[in-house]
Amino acid sequence: MEKSSLSKYSIGVGDRFAHQAEAQLQACLLAAKQGVDVIPVWNKSNREHNIIGSEPASVRSAADSAVRKLGWTKPYHVDADHINFETVDRFLEASDFYTIDVADWIGKPASAAQIEAFAHRHPELSTRTAAKYLTAVTEAGRIYRKIEAVQGQGNFIPEISMDETDSPQTSAELLVILAAISDEKIPIQTIAPKFTGRFNKGVDYQGDLEKFTEEFSNDISTIALAVEKYDLPRNLKLSVHSGSDKFSIYRPIREALRKTNAGVHLKTAGTTWLEELIGLAEAGGDGLALAKEIYAQAYEQREALCAPYAAVIDIDPQHLPAPGTVEKWTSDQFVAALRHDQSNPAFNNHLRQLLHVGFKVAAKLGRRYLDLLEKFEPIVAKNVTENLFERHIRPVFLG
Ligand SMILES: [Zn+2]
Repeated sequence: MEKSSLSKYSIGVGDRFAHQAEAQLQACLLAAKQGVDVIPVWNKSNREHNIIGSEPASVRSAADSAVRKLGWTKPYHVDADHINFETVDRFLEASDFYTIDVADWIGKPASAAQIEAFAHRHPELSTRTAAKYLTAVTEAGRIYRKIEAVQGQGNFIPEISMDETDSPQTSAELLVILAAISDEKIPIQTIAPKFTGRFNKGVDYQGDLEKFTEEFSNDISTIALAVEKYDLPRNLKLSVHSGSDKFSIYRPIREALRKTNAGVHLKTAGTTWLEELIGLAEAGGDGLALAKEIYAQAYEQREALCAPYAAVIDIDPQHLPAPGTVEKWTSDQFVAALRHDQSNPAFNNHLRQLLHVGFKVAAKLGRRYLDLLEKFEPIVAKNVTENLFERHIRPVFLG
C-alpha cells in the first residue's frame, strides 16, 4: 500500500511527552499478531505543543525510532491534529497526516454566486445546507492547497474535521459537505463529523446510544454513497475524535464495521498520559509521591487548567478529593481512583478528567517528571500497552 494511503483500520494515539511511542506501537503489534492490521497515527495538536513546549519534529522522531526499534514494517503516520491556515506551518516538515479543522467556519455566509453554482452542480442536494457549509469547505481547500504546495499531491493524508462545534451534523448534511469537498478537489481520506452526545475528555460517552448507533451507520452509508457519486478516494472513512475512552460506543462501532465492512480511524489522545501517571503511582516510592504532587498542583490550578477545555469536560469540584486526602493514599488507592475501570467503586471520573487536562503541571516539572518516567519505564509501558490494546483496540477492531 502507498505510503500516503490510509489503511482500513487506524488508531490515533497521543503521546504528550514523547516517551511512549514504543509502548503504543506494541499494542498495534499485539493486534497484528491476532491477524488484524491497526495502523498507528501519532497525533498532537498545536494547542498541546504550545502547552508542553514541544515541536512537531519530536513526534516524528519518537515515532520513527519506535518503528525502527520494534521492526514495524507496516505504515504509520504523524498527524498534525486540528490545524488551521495559521497554525499549519510548523507541522509541514514532520507530518504526513493533516487534520484540517474548519469547525469555526461553519455557518459563515457563502456568497450568492457560490450557492447558485453549487445548486447548479447538485440539484439533488439542499442549498440551505450548502449555504451553511460552503465557506467552511472553501477554507478547507485553502488549507489543503497550502499543505499540498509543500508536500506535493498524494504525499499526505488529508482529514477534514468539524467535530469541535455545538451541534452534530446529520447524514444529509454530511452528504452535502462531501459533495462540496469533492467540488473543492480535496482528496480527503477521513472525515470527522460531530456526533450526537457528549465526548468529554478521558471518560466514557454520555448520550443516547441508540441515536449514536443509528447516526454512525447512516454516516457509513452516506460515505459509501458519496464515494460513488462524487468521486472521492475509495478509502474514505469516518474519523471518530473520541476524546479517549468512549467505551460504550465501541460495541456499536464494531457492529457497524462488521456489518458494512467499512473502516474507521479512532482518535484517542490523553489516555496515554494518564497511563503514565497510573504507572508512576503503581510504582510507589518517588513515583507515587510525584503522582500525588501533580494531583495537588492540578487541584490548586484547576480553573486555569480546565478553561481551555470547558466545552469537553464536566467536573464537579465537590467530587474532587482534597490534596490532603490524596496525600495519604496508597498506590492501590491512587490507581483505583484514576484507572478507567467503571466497575470499580473507587473510580473517580472527576479526578480523572482533571488529571486528563492537567498535563501542563507535568510539563512544568520538566526533567523531574521525565526522569521518573524513565526510571519506571517497564511499569509505565505495561500500563500504556495494556490500556491501548485491551480497552481500545480489542473492542473496536478485534471484537
Ligand atoms: Zn477533534
